[in-house]
Amino acid sequence: MNEKWLIIGQGLAGSVLALQCQHQGIDFEIWNDETQYCSSKYAAGLWNPVSFKRITAPEHIHDLLHHCTTFFERCNVLLDTNCFHHSCIHRIFPDAQYGRDWDMKSILTKYENLLGVPDEKLPLWQQTFQSGSVLTSGWLNVPEFLENTRKHFQKSKQYLNLGKNEIAERIADQETKKIYSHIIFCTGLAALPEVFQNIRIIPNKGHVLSIKTDQAIPRNIVHYGNFAIPVDHHRLRVGSSYEWEKSDTTVDDNIVDELTRKLKEYMPIAFHVESVQVGLRPTVIDRNPIIGALPDQPQFGLFNGLGTKGVLQAPLMAHYLIEHLTKGAEIPKAFSIQRFYINKN
Ligand SMILES: Cc1cc2nc3c(=O)[nH]c(=O)nc-3n(C[C@H](O)[C@H](O)[C@H](O)COP(=O)(O)OP(=O)(O)OC[C@H]3O[C@@H](n4cnc5c(N)ncnc54)[C@H](O)[C@@H]3O)c2cc1C
Repeated sequence: MNEKWLIIGQGLAGSVLALQCQHQGIDFEIWNDETQYCSSKYAAGLWNPVSFKRITAPEHIHDLLHHCTTFFERCNVLLDTNCFHHSCIHRIFPDAQYGRDWDMKSILTKYENLLGVPDEKLPLWQQTFQSGSVLTSGWLNVPEFLENTRKHFQKSKQYLNLGKNEIAERIADQETKKIYSHIIFCTGLAALPEVFQNIRIIPNKGHVLSIKTDQAIPRNIVHYGNFAIPVDHHRLRVGSSYEWEKSDTTVDDNIVDELTRKLKEYMPIAFHVESVQVGLRPTVIDRNPIIGALPDQPQFGLFNGLGTKGVLQAPLMAHYLIEHLTKGAEIPKAFSIQRFYINKN
């Protein structure tokens, strides 16, 4: 069989996989139903190696960062955009002990290029207990990245917008199965075909606020318990909330009030909420992505569960998936679809 992949869905996962396939010289097509829910359109787009709760980074953080930065920098050039940004994140410490923990961590080898101290205090922001800087971080304008990727593959005729029923019918057709060596589902929270019955993708609801003020906002991303990302000189994106297992997309006024109250506490200036966006993240019970092919039907594969860290994780996950399906390289157990099939066959 010819090596031709079929990628179903063009959110962050499908886009990153398609661009990686192109880079590796793999022939592929994307079938996307543009009327279906797309989590990526709501993403704030931060890529941040550090979890601020306990000031920790995942074990393979340097691989994640390497793949994230090289991949998206290459995309900026290929797609002729500037949607991937490097920008330090200023973490405002909640208390003095947090600052001491930050200092202790920053001298460990794993964190020496990740954690630092900011050059100066940020104007407009309240900082009772100092702050620290995450040195390798930034944000991706996800909707712009998706749009540019789509246009790129429309030009090369590798992108098709099809209804989900038509896609399901085409996939069931034996002729389709003969054409494509791998059919990879990158459909986020959408219901998966019957063959993936062991897999459960869980929604995680999040609110993001667009804030406007007349004052000039410093160009730094700030974390004060929530994130504030400057969009231009007078606008911030603020969020996100994390509401597990909620699958509705209605605005919760209590959450908007809480996000607004907390921002006011840390940035005590006049501002107003221009708009509120609510989205659902596709997550997995153990909080790790799911990649790989089905053990008993290896033509069908999955790239999903990017959760709260889609931008940081997607390039390394696409790399693992491609190495696995083209060279038989093992996918690390924590991310492999196999973890949902062990002891079940
Ligand atoms: C409020 C919020 C804030 C976030 N903030 C960040 C952040 O700061 N940083 C970060 O890294 N991540 C963030 N995320 C998470 C990030 O958005 C997700 O991890 C990522 O977008 C998931 O991408 P995906 O491609 O797996 O799914 P999706 O983006 O949902 O893409 C699925 C695609 O499949 C298509 N589709 C669905 N069903 C079918 C079908 N049957 N046939 C064909 N096509 C189909 C859809 O149209 C869509 O294009 C945030 C998410 C939310 C909701």
